[in-house]
Amino acid sequence: MAGDEGLPTASVRSAADLPSVIAEMVIMGTGTSIGVPVVGCCCDVCLSNNPRNRRTRSGVLLRAPEGELIIDAGPELRLQLIRERATLIRAAIMTHGHADHIMGIDDLRIFGFQLNSSVPLYCEEFVEQQIRQTFSYAFTDPATHSHQFAAPRLRFERINAGDKFEVLGLSVEAIRLKHGELPILGFRIGNVAFCTDVSTIPAASKERLQGLDVLVLDTLRRDPHPTHLHLDAALKLIHQLSPKMAYLTHMSHELDYDELVQELPDHVRPAYDGLRIPIAACESPNNSLP
Ligand SMILES: [Zn+2]
Ligand SMILES: [Zn+2]
Ligand SMILES: [Zn+2]
Repeated sequence: MAGDEGLPTASVRSAADLPSVIAEMVIMGTGTSIGVPVVGCCCDVCLSNNPRNRRTRSGVLLRAPEGELIIDAGPELRLQLIRERATLIRAAIMTHGHADHIMGIDDLRIFGFQLNSSVPLYCEEFVEQQIRQTFSYAFTDPATHSHQFAAPRLRFERINAGDKFEVLGLSVEAIRLKHGELPILGFRIGNVAFCTDVSTIPAASKERLQGLDVLVLDTLRRDPHPTHLHLDAALKLIHQLSPKMAYLTHMSHELDYDELVQELPDHVRPAYDGLRIPIAACESPNNSLP
């Protein structure tokens, strides 16, 4: 594949055998922060009967070798987990602290009690601060709670951009993205990367996103936006990174599923709630833990 040579993940493609699937990524929500349909909106997409135009807030379920985890916890988390028949969420990885990515954290309450331990939240330091502020009741003295199930049992696991860390048998790489001026994280797991809420990707991060089979990429709308990629910018990035397949996510009601399918090249598709993506391991020199 063009663009791979000399880059850190070039050996991804050198395996003689087809890579074996080790996990599954389920795109649980593909909508922008207000969701689609937009309450009260009468546009064609919001009134559409196509279920692929119904987009809950952004989030991912990962079925890993040692159990289920999520990336982000949006306001519809419980409904998404039920829809995808998830059973027991053992960890959460956070891209950033915006409301549409964290407001479902209370829905993790049941898992802390089923596991009889706290649920680890993997995030950067300033995201931890935002979560502690927003869910302050989860971090007060348990004796002040009305009953033992009143607050989620959570603990923080620190991650930083560039880290590779192990969760439930998966090796995850945290990749720096820029969401307007806000530094946030995208994640690469084997041959698949999830990059939501991004407007620019630093050059060093682009190197980490080479040799992908699947790239899931923020595409808010057709017109430029200060903190999200728009369609033309997303397509330009996809061309640069040249994944085998790209899926657009975090979409607003300006983007109609069928229209996009008709106009996009074959290797680019709009994602939809419930899309399943197989994950295969990548044996690259970068895969060792730091
Ligand atoms: Zn968002
Ligand atoms: Zn609308
Ligand atoms: Zn955001």
